[in-house]
Amino acid sequence: MKKLLKKYQHAIRRNCIGDDYPPEGNVTFWRNRLFSNTLEFILPLSLITIIPGVVYSLMLGLYVLAIFDVFSFLFLLFIAFGKGVSIKNRKLMLMACTYLASAYLLFYIGINGPGLLFLYAGCIFGLLILSNSYTYFLAAINVIICIAFGFVIFYNLSPVDAVNEITVAEWIATSVNLIFLSFLSCVLLPRLFEGLSTTIRKQSELKVALESSLHEVEQKNHELEKFAFVASHDLQEPLRMVTGFLSQLERKYGGQLDEKAHQYIYYANDGAARMKKIIMDLLGFSQMGQLNYPKESVDLGELLDDFRVLRRSIIEEKSATVETETLPIVNSFRAPLTQVFHNLIDNALKYHRKDHPPRIMVTATDGPHHWSFSVQDNGIGIDAEDFDRIFIMFQRLHGKEDFSGTGAGLAIVKKVIDNLGGAIWVESNLGAGSIFHFKIPK
Ligand code: ADP
Repeated sequence: MKKLLKKYQHAIRRNCIGDDYPPEGNVTFWRNRLFSNTLEFILPLSLITIIPGVVYSLMLGLYVLAIFDVFSFLFLLFIAFGKGVSIKNRKLMLMACTYLASAYLLFYIGINGPGLLFLYAGCIFGLLILSNSYTYFLAAINVIICIAFGFVIFYNLSPVDAVNEITVAEWIATSVNLIFLSFLSCVLLPRLFEGLSTTIRKQSELKVALESSLHEVEQKNHELEKFAFVASHDLQEPLRMVTGFLSQLERKYGGQLDEKAHQYIYYANDGAARMKKIIMDLLGFSQMGQLNYPKESVDLGELLDDFRVLRRSIIEEKSATVETETLPIVNSFRAPLTQVFHNLIDNALKYHRKDHPPRIMVTATDGPHHWSFSVQDNGIGIDAEDFDRIFIMFQRLHGKEDFSGTGAGLAIVKKVIDNLGGAIWVESNLGAGSIFHFKIPK
């Protein structure tokens, strides 16, 4: 049944909507859509109303009305399914059908029947499905039909006595209201479509502008990554020279240098080591955008076990605990995900309060579209003002005397999660600990 209904809808839509539209649609698309929806509903509904209508007409001896009913239904079928008819002509045929029905109903039933209603409905219908250029044409048809019916009443042309009993004054009083409403609708409804059309146009212009800006940003990002890669790669060589010559200086001339000179060499070596760390972080950051290896199933429980083994000495040294709930197996990229968990837990181990051994808890929540994780610690905490800053490359909240580091870890974590289509954020109270939350799509 469902399949049949789909087939029925598809056949009408193919004939009545067309396919030459921008992806977001335009006013013509929505008018055609409305037209096709109307036919989809009108056909079964007319079938329901036509059967009692025909029976009633036959009982009253109104054979022409019965034939008209059947003919109208066949005409509707042709409008919906007939081959080789343009959408515009289908619409005009539907309008003609509605107006003809209204004129016919007026002629045979008079103002007590649904004729007037059909006349107004025809006008509204036309305003919705035809282009704005037909606006006053529709109201004019109503005027013409009203005048014509005035003549029918005046010259007693209807075969039905009840219709001929209506006086011209009565008809004028009634039809004036209909004409007034038709003209009012002709003024108001097209404005709605004009507004809709402007909104859709502006929306598509905005979309184009947004896409081009996005492309530009992506390109700039790519250039920046390339620059960071080349710069950090090229900086390694001169740095190696500096450290190489420093150690030569110490080895060859160490005996001739005084204590101050040794101290200077020590500082120079320390600076070079820090610079090397920064260069390596920058290199890592610039390469983090590329997820050009395949996804695999990553057992996060195992990943955390490996972490505990790898960091056993620091965990023991700090009397830390790294606890986890049962962690899932996810289908993702192993290396970047490992980097995310390692960086976050390393930070939780590093930024702990004196006399408060780190207590770290890693949890996972299974959502409908995402996996959500959190890494909670009881460390020094972060001021709410710095929640955004800590995710920026090389931004640190502490001097190297307090905590070692380059300020690249969280920037790398954020970049990895962004690239996976996820998000990361922090919740923290100074002096009480932090929770880093992140989610990644499944
Ligand atoms: P790094 O640790 O090398 O400084 P990160 O990018 O990992 O660089 O962190 C940036 C800053 O965020 C750190 O300097 C630190 O001040 C703060 N931070 C990160 N993690 C925590 C944490 N778990 N608790 C408190 N502060 C943190």
